Amino acid sequence: MAKFLIDSLQPKLVAQFARIIDRKQLAQSYLFVGPKGAGKLELAEWIALRLFCQNVQDGAPCGECPECERILNHNHPDVMVLKTSTQSIKVDDIRNLKQEMSKTGVEGNRRVFIVEDADKMTAGAANSLLKFFEEPVPGMTVILTASSKNQLLPTILSRAQVITFQSPDRQAVIAKLEEDGANPQLARVAGRLTGNVSEAQELLTAEDFQDRVNRVFQLLDRLADHDPESFVRVQTQLLPVAKDAAAQRQVLALIGLAYADALNRHFEIAATQQLDIPAVAALAKLSSRQLTDDLQAILTAQVRLSQNVTFQSATEQLMLKLLEG
Ligand SMILES: [Zn+2]
Repeated sequence: MAKFLIDSLQPKLVAQFARIIDRKQLAQSYLFVGPKGAGKLELAEWIALRLFCQNVQDGAPCGECPECERILNHNHPDVMVLKTSTQSIKVDDIRNLKQEMSKTGVEGNRRVFIVEDADKMTAGAANSLLKFFEEPVPGMTVILTASSKNQLLPTILSRAQVITFQSPDRQAVIAKLEEDGANPQLARVAGRLTGNVSEAQELLTAEDFQDRVNRVFQLLDRLADHDPESFVRVQTQLLPVAKDAAAQRQVLALIGLAYADALNRHFEIAATQQLDIPAVAALAKLSSRQLTDDLQAILTAQVRLSQNVTFQSATEQLMLKLLEG
């Protein structure tokens, strides 16, 4: 049986929609609301696969038949996804979509329309879409996705069935990365840095990610030893792997993860996702007061970095703080 990303991200919702579709109780329109990376678009696509698949097995689409293949390749005539790379979805975008909707299904009656980031719809666009809700077409399913309900017109909210997505369990994200062959330690780091499978996968394939993680781990060893050389390492070891803003944020975030894990470990709070490195075990021996102060200092460094203090300056200051006490 094919395994899709959404099976790891939202297994409960997948099971729920498998049952709904089995019972032919699929609503005319849904609004999927939840944070980025929660699998809203993936579930919408899974529903389309499930509806069109010619070889459904145990309630799941096969992912391999010609129908599934066309949907996965985004060229199925009866599955349309409206995405925008701009700030807003405008009336014309919806008008084009509605023109498509008014045609009968190209190959059957069933059609699925997906509007990604529906909260980007202008009021005009939303009003234009409302027409569809007022005159539903049999066999058509509309799925809107949005990160928040706040920007949506109440008239749309009242007509679509709202499904709320929780952030995927980090453990599920990490398990998925490992399943795809990632090194377990790196999978844990990447999964915790983003909490989002596709972003984590990007990290894992980025050229210098592993190098950056290793260098931060080495620095943590020095910090755990209270080695004053930690200060110099910012320039000699970290700068070369912290050239852009994203990499710089990662370095500080990773230091923060290690100290947070150390604090948990100090209190003997077991977490399966903890960084399994000697530095965390060593840092856990510091007092809880010290660790709390250290975490505060890391947060301060992160704030300073976001306020355009240079990475080198923010991180060197941080080293001085972490070496205190
Ligand atoms: Zn199929």
